[in-house]
Amino acid sequence: METHHFGSKSVPVIGQGTWNLEQASRAMAVAALKRGLDLGLTHVDTAELYGAGKSEAIVGEAIAGRRDEVFLVSKVMPQNASRAGVIAACERSLKFLKTDRLDCYLLHWRGRHPLQETIAGLEELKRAGKIAAWGVSNFDADDLAEAAAIAGAKTIACNQVLYHLEERGIEHAVIPWCEKNGVAVVGYSPFGSGSFPNPTSPGGRALAAIAAARGATPRQIALAFLVRRPSLFAIPKAAAVSHVEENAGALRVKLTAADLAAIDAAFPVGRPRALQMI
Ligand code: NAP
Repeated sequence: METHHFGSKSVPVIGQGTWNLEQASRAMAVAALKRGLDLGLTHVDTAELYGAGKSEAIVGEAIAGRRDEVFLVSKVMPQNASRAGVIAACERSLKFLKTDRLDCYLLHWRGRHPLQETIAGLEELKRAGKIAAWGVSNFDADDLAEAAAIAGAKTIACNQVLYHLEERGIEHAVIPWCEKNGVAVVGYSPFGSGSFPNPTSPGGRALAAIAAARGATPRQIALAFLVRRPSLFAIPKAAAVSHVEENAGALRVKLTAADLAAIDAAFPVGRPRALQMI
């Protein structure tokens, strides 16, 4: 099982996202998450936003009786991120998730509440043992510097950001900042949120060639590339058990330097620009 450091813990590099998971039948969604846990995809990412608590409730059902196996992450919406609002939002999430603690709790994106207030609420949750760590999401390098100036960089466990083969913007400034400051980078929408490179496109053909050489699938190659550095994690969402199984297979894929170079050539990083988000 390949793991990377995530704050003080070792966490599998491939996890499970849950945005829109509630659109599948409850039984299918729970089965997919459980199969993922069986295969080592124990980093489970959810948010109060997803299905207005429905996604957290599905996660709660899937992790029942096996909480200790799971690295459980949820997120507070920016409009709830006042000092008191963060605490109330976390309590609601814990109820939906049927647990007494989160492994990491994230500010979903920056909103109108000052970061000082949000961070004060997050620190209070940590002192109360309701969260083991906290992080941020959709933070560009200047946002990270601002949060670090308030809390200390070592206090920020992760930054969850958009990262897939056709959107590599975080490689310019966000990944370097996070690596310098020991902040885990969790890449969301690793399959472009459903727009994975077409097999007939030049990029799709490059992935297929590497996949054939490694006895893997194009999606497994993409995931392996997205977690190639010790700072990186990926959290694909899959409601289908067969998709979960394929994604878990990426944990055993080893890419060579030539594979990495071929992917770099097929999916260039592009020019620096403001952080993109979904
Ligand atoms: P994604 O993981 O890039 O793509 C999900 C889509 O890919 C689904 O349609 C899924 O189908 C399909 N899929 C998954 N595995 C597959 C496989 N092996 N073969 C074929 N299709 C496959 O999209 P995402 O949900 O946008 O991102 C992943 C997670 O990141 C989210 O669920 C959420 O937890 C997180 N996220 C965070 C933010 C943020 O602002 N922090 C924003 C977006 C997402 P099925 O479901 O039918 O299996």
